[in-house]
Amino acid sequence: MEERAGKKIFNGIAIGKIKFYEKADNKVTRTKVADTEAEIARYEAAKEEAVRQLNELYEKAVVEVGEANAEIFNVHAMLLEDDDYTESVHNIISGQGLNAEYAAATTGDNFAEMFASMTDNEYMMARSADIKDVTERVVTILSGGNGGTDIGDEPVIIVAEDLAPSETVQMDKTKLLAFVTRLGSANSHTAILARTMGIPALIGVDIDKSWNGKIGIVDGYEGKFIIDPEMPLLEEYFKKKAADDEQKKLLQTLKGKENVTKSGQKINLYANIGSPSDLASVFENDAGGIGLFRSEFLYLESADYPTEEEQFQAYKKVVETMGGKKVIIRTLDIGADKQIDYFKLDKEDNPALGYRAIRICLTRPEIFRTQLRALHRASAFGNLAIMYPMIISVDEVLKVKEISKSVREELIAEGIPVGEVEEGIMIETPAAAVMSDELAKVVDFFSIGTNDLTQYTLAIDRQNSKLDPFYDAHHPAVLRLIQMVTDNAHKAGIWSGICGELGADTTLTKTFLKMGLDELSVSPGCILPVRKEVRDAD
Ligand code: PEP
Ligand code: MG
Repeated sequence: MEERAGKKIFNGIAIGKIKFYEKADNKVTRTKVADTEAEIARYEAAKEEAVRQLNELYEKAVVEVGEANAEIFNVHAMLLEDDDYTESVHNIISGQGLNAEYAAATTGDNFAEMFASMTDNEYMMARSADIKDVTERVVTILSGGNGGTDIGDEPVIIVAEDLAPSETVQMDKTKLLAFVTRLGSANSHTAILARTMGIPALIGVDIDKSWNGKIGIVDGYEGKFIIDPEMPLLEEYFKKKAADDEQKKLLQTLKGKENVTKSGQKINLYANIGSPSDLASVFENDAGGIGLFRSEFLYLESADYPTEEEQFQAYKKVVETMGGKKVIIRTLDIGADKQIDYFKLDKEDNPALGYRAIRICLTRPEIFRTQLRALHRASAFGNLAIMYPMIISVDEVLKVKEISKSVREELIAEGIPVGEVEEGIMIETPAAAVMSDELAKVVDFFSIGTNDLTQYTLAIDRQNSKLDPFYDAHHPAVLRLIQMVTDNAHKAGIWSGICGELGADTTLTKTFLKMGLDELSVSPGCILPVRKEVRDAD
């Protein structure tokens, strides 16, 4: 028996045979070609076939994981059709007189390396795997293969160095028990797909080929992978798995049910998202709305400032898809742990206490106004609310609201339609919590960001894993602040919710109900467990 630790991507328990998955080995040889034009035509034909396959995959993925998650295959097709990528392949063929397989593989390696080197942009780094994936597809087609992914006839735990999104989606879901990979990031689309498909998954596991064919246990709750378990442990896990399956089945029956306690107290359960691609799991888990759309992910995914139009399209897609349900979009929260090259922020000694979020927006109004224009434009297409992060004073809120008002008036003057928007703030600094009686008079709602509120109240850096034992979000100081903020909100006739991770902590659901919170916004997979807790409460 062996045991390995890994990073949890999705909860759940899987028990089954381990299958070591290896990519088809497309050994690319470098050969000279005489007719470079014919070789370019051969590459173009392979590219066309790859795009056809990707369109087919898109259709398959739409059914299995929803439109938003399927979008990755459109992105793959776009990468292949990218001018720089195509130019590089053509240049290698015509300039050096080399074969199409070599030209594509070399271009793929170069582009993947370039993305992988963007170490301060996790999203772009993760796109390196997409480039490799799509290049592999073209090379396979050029070498006469069809790019399929067969995992065999029996249910298996797939263990791999890394998995590409297209490999993941092509695998037969009825045979796929879990994923365990050595590489990959929590932000990769494969991880997103695993979460959306509800498949237990671990990454960062020190894998070993000799496990192939052995029995494995993936414990997605504890982040453990057990290989060749001894009988008592296996029996214990069979019991755990049965209980887990039963629990999940019960949770499914809560879909469509109200978030109401036995005595009739109601609470809104909303979802936290980072991009329109998370919408499928919002629906899958029956969220009542979006309580936190972390808009900075649009900036993190981009190589340059996203334009007003790009942002407008993303926000519009979310509000339209939510069809009248509330969507709370938080304005840019860059800085601290979320650094973006093109913002060219200075290095700081205390970044969490530094130039971040609303502080950037208030000092770089051109960035802020662009985002606000996109938000107000999108408000014409659904129920959109705007939320401002890292607020510390009434004065700040008045300034922010003044800018927002002038943006709205500017749009109206241009004849551009806008809707009504609620404007609220995050309560994530002790200053905002202490001043919440005054702040409540100038905003429409409060959403308590317990991740930062805990960090700033306890003076504990949330990024420092050494301090994990001290980071106590149940600390009475944090709970008192939540109570105080909620009381002050209600006194002023506005609502108060939690959008930090603490909102999903089911050991506190009853406490939050007692405190009178109006909304909990949690990651989509946590909605049904919290709903259960609410419905079980008196
Ligand atoms: C928070 O601080 O609790 C919060 C929701 O914001 P973020 O985690 O994005 O800082
Ligand atoms: Mg925060």
